[in-house]
Amino acid sequence: MTSQSKGTGAPVIILFGSPGSGKGTQAKLLTQNCLRGPHVSTGDMLRRHISAGDQIGDKAEALIRAGKLVSDEIVNELVEKRLDEPDCGNGIILDGYPRTLNQASVLLNMLAIRGLRPAVIYLMVDYEKIVARLSGRRQCPVCGTLYSLKTNPPKVLGICDLDGATLVTREDDREEVIRERLRAYDLQTVPILNYFREAGVPTVEVNGAGATPEEIMRQICDSLAGSGLIPAAMGKNGAVSETRVG
Ligand code: AMP
Repeated sequence: MTSQSKGTGAPVIILFGSPGSGKGTQAKLLTQNCLRGPHVSTGDMLRRHISAGDQIGDKAEALIRAGKLVSDEIVNELVEKRLDEPDCGNGIILDGYPRTLNQASVLLNMLAIRGLRPAVIYLMVDYEKIVARLSGRRQCPVCGTLYSLKTNPPKVLGICDLDGATLVTREDDREEVIRERLRAYDLQTVPILNYFREAGVPTVEVNGAGATPEEIMRQICDSLAGSGLIPAAMGKNGAVSETRVG
């Protein structure tokens, strides 16, 4: 088993959440409110390499377009280099990494060597709610404006308020496609969550629905403060609400 961190360093938050769970919003709120480190998304890093047209970008582009994972070797190296940049000294939020057991085990070693302390945050959202939310989205094919049939409908059903174009359902917002993405997410994520649990990494499960994004962020900050991963002053009252995934 991977050796554990020495417990003296900055927190490394490993953020898990299915498509539609509000993960991006939480990553942003957490960096603004209770974690000083950057939000690091391996997907964003790879896309930047593709835009730069470099060797990593060349290797990653076709795989990403085909919906396949980029090799462990490439992403592990990207993350390792990123961890050594000066802005990670106070911690970091990892998003989209690790995605395989190899990445998870390499990550724990990288953190142990650097004395950084990992914690998992798992944003759980009822899949039926995600399906309802995403499949109710409509987009204007002309200007790109997104509508929600429930929370933000157009003034005239099926018509864009801004340019009168007929709204469409994006391919990846079709119900079958959403369900397939959620299934794939589970298959990929559950073994990694179990791996971290067995390795003794603190895991915070948070209900990603039924509260405002700010309230969810506050719960996460309180849990992190309660487990000593961030200073108590950065959580509201330092209350422990840590749970284990199991
Ligand atoms: P994301 O923006 O996190 O959805 O990532 C977009 C794409 O980048 C994924 O579909 C993968 O092809 C690739 N990717 C991002 N992170 C990883 C990772 N940790 N391991 C392998 N491939 C990744």
